[in-house]
Amino acid sequence: MKVYLLLGGNIGDTKSLFAQTIKLIQTEVGDVVQKSSLYESEPWGFEHEQNFLNQVVIVETMLEPINLLDTTQQIEKEMGRVRKKSQYSERTIDVDILFYDNLVMESERLTIPHLMLHQRMFTLEPLVELSPNFIHPKKQKTLVELLHECSDKLFVKRLAD
Ligand code: AMP
Repeated sequence: MKVYLLLGGNIGDTKSLFAQTIKLIQTEVGDVVQKSSLYESEPWGFEHEQNFLNQVVIVETMLEPINLLDTTQQIEKEMGRVRKKSQYSERTIDVDILFYDNLVMESERLTIPHLMLHQRMFTLEPLVELSPNFIHPKKQKTLVELLHECSDKLFVKRLAD
């Protein structure tokens, strides 16, 4: 199964935390076949002095959706332990499941495609970089169409690789 994961974080050395997170994804979720550039974005929906970094990765996995969620949450926790040692606050790294092949599902714990992805430029920009013509299985529109329709005005900057 081909899944799209969004990494996000704004505390500590996010770039190196992303690299560690991707290593954990590679061993615990499956083969990381593509990575977007890093994107810097304004915090969405609340005020925080530190800008966020985001990155989308595409992973080939054998995990069922709910096991995938358990695993990404486990990885968030493992990264939390890394944080605590260096006295960072909770939740340095957030991992969201954006797409799971063309699956559409809604359960108490898991909504796929991710509920907010079409409303957030920091998610759409890296997605479009990787797969502009991928069709959102619920909206039935390509990612580039969703990007053009998105009214999110917060700035998002692609960082040099
Ligand atoms: P957040 O704090 O934004 O990372 O949200 C985490 C919560 O969202 C968890 O309790 C998950 O069960 C739930 N959730 C629902 N859909 C998804 C998804 N597609 N990816 C990650 N978390 C999800």
